[in-house]
Amino acid sequence: MSSKVYFTDARARSGNNMRDKLTALFDAVGAAEVVAKKDLVAIKIHWGERGNLAYLPPPITAAIADKVRDAGGVPFITDTTTLYAGSRRNAPDNLMTAYSNGFSPSTIGAPAIIADGLFGDDYVKVDIDGCHFKECKIASGIYRAQALISLAHFKGHGGTGFGGTIKNIGMGCSAASGKQNQHSDVKPKISLKKCVGCGSCMKKCPTDAISFNEDHKAVIDRALCIGCAECTVTCRFEAIAVSWKSDLKLMMEKMAEYATAALKNKAGKCVFFNAIIKVSPDCDCFDFNDIPIVPDIGIVASKDPVAVDQAAVDLVNSAPGIAASALGDNYSSDDKFRALHKVDWRHQLDHAIKLGAGSRDYELINIDK
Ligand code: SF4
Ligand code: SF4
Repeated sequence: MSSKVYFTDARARSGNNMRDKLTALFDAVGAAEVVAKKDLVAIKIHWGERGNLAYLPPPITAAIADKVRDAGGVPFITDTTTLYAGSRRNAPDNLMTAYSNGFSPSTIGAPAIIADGLFGDDYVKVDIDGCHFKECKIASGIYRAQALISLAHFKGHGGTGFGGTIKNIGMGCSAASGKQNQHSDVKPKISLKKCVGCGSCMKKCPTDAISFNEDHKAVIDRALCIGCAECTVTCRFEAIAVSWKSDLKLMMEKMAEYATAALKNKAGKCVFFNAIIKVSPDCDCFDFNDIPIVPDIGIVASKDPVAVDQAAVDLVNSAPGIAASALGDNYSSDDKFRALHKVDWRHQLDHAIKLGAGSRDYELINIDK
């Protein structure tokens, strides 16, 4: 059976601006049905790295927060700490980035909460029968919320072809070490030059694989190391480098497993939006954004996280490409993300389907007609 995906286009006019259209989409998809009175509702967004300007404007998120409150819920906007050393690596930096990008209680009408805590290590272990993981580290602030609304900015991504709902949930609801586990299985190495001997990594290591050498520098016993990545995300001195060595197909499968785990305790309590606006070629995690690859298209919403991504890809592929963008000579391609990043994005959706997360078959319902 095909899943229902609701769509409103990006055309706006007086009396029916994008905020009005998003509100109508919220009603059409039945988002209020997932919110019970006094539910804490996590609105999972990406408020952009500092310097990036492609992230969704705050009033879009504010419209969702208002609707959640109207439905009787208690909304909060949320994201998790990053793996890389940018402007969102820990909770204070991440919140300051949110504020400077315009996401504050006064603009949204709801607080921002960093779901995986001060250092990205506040998570709940969720059992899953995946091919790569038997347990996933889901940010506790999202896991413990009673309902989840994913509001993803749909755009390109170098590792997964595109970044939409599965990425917003899989990578975005994961604690920092879970992000490393999704990116790579490589066991970490410690730079003796950068290590200041603080001992934080040793306290976090679950297998006592780290000890000090005679110079009071941390070293890893590789026979004991299980590659959990807790030390990598704990070190504040960048002495333990993040490994980005990924087989992209595996990374997409792992991301789909994390998405499934993040949704595991929320059957009937989730709705997914993809805003196909300012479709930049790369992720909002970069501190810049290139021009969009297609004109603004609109917003899709569904209770099926796979169908909503498939619908968004199809809308991008059927739109006229912009030759002056990163697409260049591939501007008329009917698979724009593959042409852009040479990545077969289907792996993330097909693996999510194997895990029972949703379907690529959908019925698109245009609410503007
Ligand atoms: S956390 Fe970093 S600086 Fe501290 S001991 Fe471990 S490797 Fe060295
Ligand atoms: S990756 Fe995990 S097991 Fe290996 S040294 Fe770091 S904390 Fe210990």
